[in-house]
Amino acid sequence: MTDFTWTREQFHLPLGMIYLDGNSLGPMPKATPARIERMLHEEWAEQLITGWNNCGWMQMPRRLGDRIGALIGAAPGQTVVGDTLSIKVFQALAAALDLRPDRRVILSDSGNFPSDLYMAEGLVRLTGDRHELRLARPHELEDSITEEVAVLLVTEVDYRTGRRHDLAALTRKAHEMGALVIWDLAHSAGALPVDVTAGAADFAVGCTYKYINAGPGAPAFIYVAPDLSEAAEPALSGWLGHAHPFAFERSYRPGDGIDRMRVGTPPVLQMAALDAALDIWDRVDIRDIRKRSLALTGLMIEEVETHCPGVRLVTPRDNEKRGSQVSFRFEQGYATIQALIDQGVIGDFRAPDIMRFGITPLYITEDDIREAVETLARTLRGALWDNPRYRRRRAVT
Ligand SMILES: *Cc1c(COP(=O)(O)O)cnc(C)c1O
Repeated sequence: MTDFTWTREQFHLPLGMIYLDGNSLGPMPKATPARIERMLHEEWAEQLITGWNNCGWMQMPRRLGDRIGALIGAAPGQTVVGDTLSIKVFQALAAALDLRPDRRVILSDSGNFPSDLYMAEGLVRLTGDRHELRLARPHELEDSITEEVAVLLVTEVDYRTGRRHDLAALTRKAHEMGALVIWDLAHSAGALPVDVTAGAADFAVGCTYKYINAGPGAPAFIYVAPDLSEAAEPALSGWLGHAHPFAFERSYRPGDGIDRMRVGTPPVLQMAALDAALDIWDRVDIRDIRKRSLALTGLMIEEVETHCPGVRLVTPRDNEKRGSQVSFRFEQGYATIQALIDQGVIGDFRAPDIMRFGITPLYITEDDIREAVETLARTLRGALWDNPRYRRRRAVT
């Protein structure tokens, strides 16, 4: 059993703040500063370049990949860390298209995160428009998988609505049709049980600064199924994905297995933060997270619907069909979120009118949910959002 009192104690949570945005940027684990300090002073400062050998920096992408692999049902040696999620989407997509040379269609859905779709668009342009990015509506995605499809690019949980796809079913259908599947686990890893092995994912990608709590700009991860890892051709053929980086050969030769998905120099300091964050996960059972997440999201839905007339739920009520966030439509959503932030309740806003609340059982309790909803109810009742200060759009919403 996961001890949620213990997990909550592991995070620095600012006094007087209820943080419902861990689906966008997780809070800082208390152990992180000391870990980074140690790396700075004992490793970088003292070891300088010998740190690559003496401190295991060069192996970190694989070692941390294995730790994340444990969270997503991957065996050791199948996951590697580095770059950002957008880059990992590009890598997976390019490799998948290359494995289905006689097919032209990349299929995704209109609820996917824009960066995934932008990366697909860029790749299509780069291949001289030989491919086509086709978007289905989320509920029509499964029926849109045809024999034209080379690769299905699917993000399990919709970043706006919190709607969750049935990845195993989509993957079965895609495989029946001869297509490959890339799972984007941005809102799944650390939020709900994931099993890339049982679910037969061909590729999986995700980020570590959301539910995994590795900090702003923390590196992403990529998983490649063992039956594809020697056939997947890296489009981003950087030197650290080379079979022998330090042979400095004239031409690129892909490294063994997942190593070829590495690109360039890994972000060592940020990986120290990821390592510290993953220590917490060693003492967490993801099934307990899911159970509590459903209880907390359910409570949030119930409380908002009881106390906040005028906002409309867009997250599925059905437990199976939602991730770990709750979203509501409200015309004055942006200003309302600003007013909430001013009162210490941190959610966020996604255009055009969605107020989004990430629910993260590692450090959120029933009392937090009740208090946050009370603040929302007060804000709506008193029209506290109706203030020019709250309507000014900032760069990050
Ligand atoms: C958060 C998120 C991203 C962000 O990509 P970065 O390159 O890490 O900025 C991409 N895709 C999805 C589905 C996301 O939720």
